[in-house]
Parts: sequence; structure tokens; C-alpha cells
Amino acid sequence: MQRETLQDAAPIAAFKFASGKVLDFVLPPRCASCGALTERQVGLCSACWPGLSFITDPFCERCGVPFEFAVPGRSVCAACLRRPPAFDRAFSPLSYGDMSRTLILQLKHGDRLGHAQLLANLMAPHVASFGLESPLIMPVPLHPWRLIWRRFNQSVLLARHLARATGHKLDVFSLARRRRTKMQQGLDARQRRENVRAAFMVPAKRRGFVKGRDILLIDDVFTTGATVEACCKPLRKAGARRIGVLTAARVVSPQSAAI
Ligand SMILES: [Zn+2]
Ligand SMILES: [Zn+2]
Repeated sequence: MQRETLQDAAPIAAFKFASGKVLDFVLPPRCASCGALTERQVGLCSACWPGLSFITDPFCERCGVPFEFAVPGRSVCAACLRRPPAFDRAFSPLSYGDMSRTLILQLKHGDRLGHAQLLANLMAPHVASFGLESPLIMPVPLHPWRLIWRRFNQSVLLARHLARATGHKLDVFSLARRRRTKMQQGLDARQRRENVRAAFMVPAKRRGFVKGRDILLIDDVFTTGATVEACCKPLRKAGARRIGVLTAARVVSPQSAAI
């Protein structure tokens, strides 16, 4: 059985390699940001790459906000100490800045759906660091009306790539929007929490499925955390065990860079 699997894998790998080469020939790979020719189908050119700002150690082990400098013995930020978030841990590989904003807005507006793969490639290496057990990869849902208007949900695209990359199960059915909310732009942290309060639900027929499971919530940007926190309440009520939050980018100072 093992040998058959290995034998089967060789032609598939060869096909993938060959089809990748054909794709490179038909559609020469271009930088996802500026369009310059690059070596790979999904990526940024060497000029655009430094425009991304990565969040590196030290950062809050609870909400992922980067610290300006390491303080011995301090691993959780003041905000998380004051008001512990509803999720167990959140992390974003990118700090929300000019380049990541461009990539995320182009993805959101449907101009460049390929950015989902690029961003998911940056997120995937962090999935294991959450220490979750066979987590359900769960995108933050859009209200069905907004989904019709927007045609797709960028969080689903990111989650689908992540599920494929990690082998964990994609679950787009266990978390739903039960009411429409105003856009979060321009609202402060308290208004954001109020806006999304009770906006999400776990459908009754999915509660048994969520019970006892670890969840990894996926979204594009973490601003104040209000949206993902609102997702946690119905998930906990349904018996979810640990809840991690992985977003492509994080607003590091909500006051100065509200989106
Ligand atoms: Zn470029
Ligand atoms: Zn924190």
C-alpha cells in the first residue's frame, strides 16, 4: 500500500512541476504588488518585499501586539491584562502598513484574488505555534447579503489556502452571521464591540460538531479584535475548547491607523 502510494505520487509531482512550468510560460510570474516579472507565480519582487513589515519577537503572547522592546518577565500586554480577550491567542505575521494594506484591499475588492495565496503562505508557518489539536479552520463569515454584494469572502479564500497547506479541516458552516452590522471603519474599540455584539451564531445542527474542538479563526485584518471576540462567544457556548485567531495583518496602533 505504502509503495503504491509512493509510486502514485511520482507522476503527480511530475505533473505539478510540469504544469507549473507551463503556467510560468503561458502566464509569466509577476510581482503581486507592482507587476514586475518575478521567479514564482505567487510572490513579491525584491523591490516590494521590504515594503512588508513583519511582526517578530517580542510580542504579546495573548493578542500578538508587538512590544517596542522586551521587558524581562513580561509576555502579556497591558490591554490583555486589563481585559483578557475572549480568544486564547491571536497572531498576525504582518503589521498593517502601506504594502499589506494594498494587498488586502486589492484582495477584498476582488481585483487580485491571487493575493490570498500569497498572504496564506505567510500565515501558514504560524499555525503550529498555536498548539491546537486538529483545529477546525474557520473563516470569519460575512452576512449573506454582503456576500452577494461582494461576491466572495476574502477570509474564506485565506482559510481555504491555509486548510490545504496544513491539512486541517476547513469549516465554513459552524459559524454564521445572524444580523447585518455596520462597517467597522471609523468606529472606536467600544463602538466596534457594540456593533458586532451578538452578530454571530453557531447553527443548532452544528453545535455537536464544534463541541470539544479546537478552533482557528481566520480573518484578513485584526484591528481591535472586536469581530473575532464576538465570534468566540457563540463558539464557547457551543463547547469549543481552545480558540486561536490567525489574521494576515494586525493594526499595531488602532488610534493612528484605523481602517
Ligand atoms: Zn513588486
Ligand atoms: Zn495583548
